[in-house]
Amino acid sequence: MDNCIFCKIGRREIPKEFTFEDEDIMVFPDINPVKPIHLLIIPKTHIKEFHALDNPVLFEKLGKVILQMIVKMELQTKGYRVVINGGGAQVVDHLHIHLMGPIAKAASV
Ligand code: 5GP
Ligand code: ZN
Repeated sequence: MDNCIFCKIGRREIPKEFTFEDEDIMVFPDINPVKPIHLLIIPKTHIKEFHALDNPVLFEKLGKVILQMIVKMELQTKGYRVVINGGGAQVVDHLHIHLMGPIAKAASV
């Protein structure tokens, strides 16, 4: 999509240091982090939102990358949250998964 910010990042039209990248998925820190670690895990292809994801292979790959990022960021025992905003709750209309941490148990809502 021409005007999509995450497509532009994926096409390298906007410089961004990736935490992880393969042919299908990119991961980089959120520009406005709400926790010390706040990553966005994003399919490179433009999928508008979570319930528009109809590719089971990509679904599985996204899950694997979430798990890899939890380990890479050493969040296994520090508390983390995985969030997908969709159905109009999202600000950016290109599927992305938030991974945030560390998160204390008492802070969970
Ligand atoms: P949403 O509310 O759509 O789930 O979240 C969109 C997220 O994308 C927000 O947390 C926002 O800070 C982040 N974001 C928006 N534009 C950019 C950008 O250009 N670069 C980065 N790294 N994050 C962005
Ligand atoms: Zn896009």
